[in-house]
Amino acid sequence: ASSGEQKDLVVVGGGPGGYVAAIKASQMGLKVACVEGRGSLGGTCLNVGCIPSKALLASSHLYHEVKKNAESHGVIVDGVKMDIGKMMAQKETAVAGLTKGIEGLFKKYKVEYVKGWGKFAGANDMEVALLDGGTTTVTAKNFIIATGSEVSPLPGMTIDEERVVSSTGAIALKEVPQKLIVIGGGYIGLEMGSVWQRLGSEVTVVEFLDHIVPSMDSEIRKNFQRSLTKQGFKFKLGYKVTGAEVTGDVVKLTVENVKDGKSEQLEASVVLVSAGRRPYVEGLDLAKVGVELDRRGRVQVDEHFKTTAPSGNIFAVGDVIDGPMLAHKAEEDGIACVENLAGKKGHVNYNTVPSIVYTHPEVASVGKTEEQVKAEGGKYRVGKFAFAANSRARSVLDTEGLVKFVSDAETDKILGVHIMGPNAGELISECVLAMEYGASTEDIARSCHGHPTLSEAVKEAAMATYDKPIHS
Ligand code: FAD
Repeated sequence: ASSGEQKDLVVVGGGPGGYVAAIKASQMGLKVACVEGRGSLGGTCLNVGCIPSKALLASSHLYHEVKKNAESHGVIVDGVKMDIGKMMAQKETAVAGLTKGIEGLFKKYKVEYVKGWGKFAGANDMEVALLDGGTTTVTAKNFIIATGSEVSPLPGMTIDEERVVSSTGAIALKEVPQKLIVIGGGYIGLEMGSVWQRLGSEVTVVEFLDHIVPSMDSEIRKNFQRSLTKQGFKFKLGYKVTGAEVTGDVVKLTVENVKDGKSEQLEASVVLVSAGRRPYVEGLDLAKVGVELDRRGRVQVDEHFKTTAPSGNIFAVGDVIDGPMLAHKAEEDGIACVENLAGKKGHVNYNTVPSIVYTHPEVASVGKTEEQVKAEGGKYRVGKFAFAANSRARSVLDTEGLVKFVSDAETDKILGVHIMGPNAGELISECVLAMEYGASTEDIARSCHGHPTLSEAVKEAAMATYDKPIHS
């Protein structure tokens, strides 16, 4: 229950947006409580999103490497088997450790953790239906709504989390499905598809558009799709799902070709519905305090994360507002919002939020794609470097992919960087930093990079943008 004292700030939602905002606010001297209803902190990200999916990607990658690639390194392993129960247990250990870790941080920074579902009772009051039973009211000068997002439903599909699953069911399957159909070719579907494909599933991705991951640079996307196809993925692009029927162990899926309207039936042991996520504001009673949603159902905020509540003390961050639905973006929102609240100048540059697909190879990008830059009509340059020419990638036998820079032809300023390759998600940070500092490709190329590292591919691609790379 709540301590009863009025807080400077109550954050509703304990995901990456909410818990980071709560900790930051407390560090800045505010009296803070965080209301969270799921029974553990960390939100979608720690409980059913980023963390469990990355744990399963790591386990399945290790299995796949041992089975398929260890021999090339001279490591002979006989009788490799996968214990799905143990894999899930390791995932749960990772999740439990991290969610408890946030509880520990709340204690350390004196953030009061109110366990229950909150709803606005007034501009300064939130009524909380406590998980232990009963209700309490928390009062605060300010509120941050950080209630995140949920899986977007698909018409005609009922998610039972066993045969027809969302990502939440896909991270908790008890056995490897023989045939897995993934509806939606976004990053979550491809990551979960990768996990089960490595463990033996036949994976088919059904996507309404004629390409996967729409936000990706198209040259990188083509390479990426080729790589996934080589791994065994099948793609049905330009198809929409019109119905599903579960009979015993089989899901019969009816799909329709978007161009010619012809229908066909596909069969799967498990279908993963992964056609996007939508903001979650259910039960908050936003109308009571005048918080309006935009036409896509997101909480409408101004540049200071302030909602439309006339009282002027209700803010929102993370997946529930505009911008990329990513944990690191939610965290940045949370910090900037609190800084504004505390009279400082918080700001998040959405143009430099990296996006990463944690498949193998990984794909990471920041800034604009070549198509976006081209469409804007300015003069630009492109520089590329393949990992096949990078000494580290070759020595570890992981050479698939490339680094691609797009820069302004006149100023050499970096406009976008797209990496497909080993550890792309780590490599992109340097490019994010460079873009934040308004750097040129020459700035990166003239910075000394350790040898032999994968980051030398970033350096050489930067070099290739305004000059010639050395090793290609
Ligand atoms: P959430 O994390 O959704 O947290 C909101 C919290 O609010 C929830 O815990 C919810 O229980 C609580 N809540 C809601 N309403 C109330 C209420 N009325 N009262 C009390 N509590 C309430 N992002 C990445 O950056 N990298 C990744 O690798 C990545 N992988 C993902 C994999 C999967 C399978 C999924 C589903 C998502 C992934 N994401 C990833 C996205 C990431 O999880 C979200 O962007 C992030 O969690 C958003 O943070 P948030 O704080 O805005 O909301």
